Amino acid sequence: MSTPPPYENAASRGTVAAVIPAAGRGVRLGPGAPKALRALGGVPILVHAVRAMLRARAVALVVVVAPADGVAEVRALLDGNGLPESKEIKVVAGGDTRQESVRLGLAALPDDTGIVLVHDAARPLVPVETVEAVVAAVRGGAPAVVPAVPLADTVKEVDPAPSPDAPEPVVGTPERARLRAVQTPQGFRRDVLAEAHEKVTDAVTDCAGMAERIGVPVVVVPGHEEAFKVTRPLDLVLAEAVLARRRAADVF
Ligand code: C5P
Repeated sequence: MSTPPPYENAASRGTVAAVIPAAGRGVRLGPGAPKALRALGGVPILVHAVRAMLRARAVALVVVVAPADGVAEVRALLDGNGLPESKEIKVVAGGDTRQESVRLGLAALPDDTGIVLVHDAARPLVPVETVEAVVAAVRGGAPAVVPAVPLADTVKEVDPAPSPDAPEPVVGTPERARLRAVQTPQGFRRDVLAEAHEKVTDAVTDCAGMAERIGVPVVVVPGHEEAFKVTRPLDLVLAEAVLARRRAADVF
């Protein structure tokens, strides 16, 4: 009998839920509504993100984490945008940081959840193949999985300047071929992500970083160029173009 991988256990065979933190203000996009509520192709960015998760057959439930003062508004918006009714969508109040918002989303998961996907509301166009590849890798025994893409730009490490206009000294150049830009959904065995959120309290920018901190092995699967994060005004222009191309080709 072969020995199972160290992290494979029954937990990864439960149902799959997606948590979508959508409680950020999105200030880098400029003034206006919270980022997740801005329109893309006439539909709020968040609705695209929820649909992207629901499109994956394995996903049974989506938990949307809304701004604390916007739970009713987000509920109404999801109810009014013709999302499939065959799968449950919960809306809960978020916190001051992404980490806190994810923790509050995790607290709303039912007991039978075995795998959790954490997906940024700000990545509305992630293809279903990427979502399914992440789920498959967790089901296959990986406790923590991130989709990622190689970098086009060379990356420099700098000594950050105290003011935005000051030149910043370069302190290093990591080898580009070894770097990946990480996207979402990131997939986890539910018990692993819960443990990471219990133990890691300092600020990290993604959930996989928390799993790394507690010594859990994290693996990368291929991400997709259309899973980019809508952060700045130009990203919105690109997202509109991708959506228009999909609509013209009737491909989602
Ligand atoms: O700020 P950033 O673009 O990294 O945010 C990534 C995701 O985390 C976004 O979908 C944003 O809405 C969410 N977020 C959150 N609660 C916060 C801050 C960010 O749910 N307090």
